[in-house]
Amino acid sequence: MESKHEIIIVGAGPAGATTAIILAQQGHDVLLIDRRQFPRDKACGDAVPAVAIELMWRLGMKEKINQAVQRGEFYPLDGMLLMSPKGYRLEADFKKGTEGGDSYVAPRFYFDAVIQQHAVDSGAQFLQADVKEPIMENGRVAGVRARVNGSIKDFPAKLVIGADGVTSAITRALRPKNNRHVDKHRAIALRAYAENFDEFPHQVEFYFYNEILPGYAWIFPTGDNQANIGLGMRLDRFRGNHGKGRLQKMLDDFLAMPEIKERLLPGFRLRDVAVWQLNFGSQKRLQHVYDGAILVGDAAGFINPLTGGGIHNAMVSADLAAQTAHDALAKEDTSRQTLQIYEKLVHDAMWSGMRRSYSLQRWLLNFPFLIDIMIKQMKANSRLAQIFLTKL
Ligand SMILES: Cc1cc2nc3c(=O)[nH]c(=O)nc-3n(C[C@H](O)[C@H](O)[C@H](O)COP(=O)(O)OP(=O)(O)OC[C@H]3O[C@@H](n4cnc5c(N)ncnc54)[C@H](O)[C@@H]3O)c2cc1C
Repeated sequence: MESKHEIIIVGAGPAGATTAIILAQQGHDVLLIDRRQFPRDKACGDAVPAVAIELMWRLGMKEKINQAVQRGEFYPLDGMLLMSPKGYRLEADFKKGTEGGDSYVAPRFYFDAVIQQHAVDSGAQFLQADVKEPIMENGRVAGVRARVNGSIKDFPAKLVIGADGVTSAITRALRPKNNRHVDKHRAIALRAYAENFDEFPHQVEFYFYNEILPGYAWIFPTGDNQANIGLGMRLDRFRGNHGKGRLQKMLDDFLAMPEIKERLLPGFRLRDVAVWQLNFGSQKRLQHVYDGAILVGDAAGFINPLTGGGIHNAMVSADLAAQTAHDALAKEDTSRQTLQIYEKLVHDAMWSGMRRSYSLQRWLLNFPFLIDIMIKQMKANSRLAQIFLTKL
């Protein structure tokens, strides 16, 4: 048994590391646990919107971000291309964030390491360990049980934050089976890095076509003829129409489309192909707090159902969880009743946007011609295009 920590955060991705930064900066004793050492890869499109960058600036990461940009690890964006099923194209400029921040394609190998390092620099203690389950005492979470260097150890804490992503051991243990994401609020996606590909510099590309709806294929450049390429679709439709093992075939079909095929340069290859799940924030009545525990980021399920973007929402939920944790610890009361304010805060911050995105996604699925109309509309109104981008 290890000595008791005030807060244990399981998972050092954007959600967990951001929570750790805020709580450590407030002077709390934080143990941040991840089963991987950093830097590490995570299957993602790597598109980071300016709002997330500006949140990082506010937490003191401006210098670290500038250095990552100078090293070529964060690739700045200035535009996007949307392609409709009938082949209508919309090109729109990216606006900077309200504080002048850029959006980037920032491979998670680099991006997550910046935030995790900042958590450590802010005073959080980092431990590489594989968390197996929360420790339960009298019906409440009292810490975590984890495998460290081959042996199982108990780590007691006043409060546990579950930030261990979509396959969260904390969520699995705490959320009853009848309170979990159903397939129509989930997606499956494949990501690969392409080398020797004629990317459009500084421009992200989204392709909507009939076989992939509701979903899209993307090309997100990282410079020097390299790009993050992938595709994803809603899980119920994927299971119904395709079945396991078909994502790679869908990617091959996408790359064989004439307008994409002509951009494969000599020596083209895909590396680091990975498949992962996404849980949308559009499902009603999911519980995010328990006696002694709060779920944040993908562990709770806050991905936008239209765009598949989850990094910014993970950080927003981290911010709200840190506020909630700080207040609850001051009162020495980490009961579900006290922590429940977090559910209200995330609802107020995200719910209306999630529902709007989900209805739009359903409309587009049932009436794909609407995408053609919408892309024509966006041409006339680039504000719509900006809204799409901020939901990434
Ligand atoms: C293919 C794909 C493409 C995407 N593209 C985008 C995009 O372009 N832009 C965007 O904004 N979002 C995108 N998303 C969503 C985005 O990746 C997530 O929303 C985001 O990673 C959530 O961050 P998180 O910190 O909650 O979880 P994660 O980033 O998953 O971090 C969880 C951490 O927990 C650790 N962990 C897991 N289990 C344990 C355990 N048992 N013990 C200890 N540690 C553990 C993991 O090692 C990991 O470091 C995409 C998702 C997918 C799958």
